[in-house]
Amino acid sequence: MDSPTSSSDEYKECVCCSCEIYGGEKQILCPTGHSFCYDCSEGLIQSGLSDPIKCLPYACFKCSKKMDVSQITKLMNKSQAEIFKKYQALETLDKKKSKLMECPFCNYFEICELSKVSNIFQCKQSGCK
Ligand SMILES: [Zn+2]
Ligand SMILES: [Zn+2]
Ligand SMILES: [Zn+2]
Repeated sequence: MDSPTSSSDEYKECVCCSCEIYGGEKQILCPTGHSFCYDCSEGLIQSGLSDPIKCLPYACFKCSKKMDVSQITKLMNKSQAEIFKKYQALETLDKKKSKLMECPFCNYFEICELSKVSNIFQCKQSGCK
């Protein structure tokens, strides 16, 4: 992914660990332009997934601006994205009206209306159970 025309010595400093980030590298950019290098982005993603109450929604710790979700999700692997999707769903969940049903065997989940919740949960993930 080398682009010969762009100046290769142009880099940003990671606001987290102060390492140098070059244009083509995987990174998270906050809305005001702070950059997180790949390692720190990974750390940020992990912290949000392991401690969602404290660390979600993702925000830049430098300027406290909420991160653009697409910046975060582009660096997530598939299983991280699944968990994140669940947290996002929970965030918008109206707890008075609906409930999150989770498969105990895989990461499949469903938002059910409380009035329609049955005790039998059917996992719709192919290959599960
Ligand atoms: Zn860093
Ligand atoms: Zn920032
Ligand atoms: Zn399942």
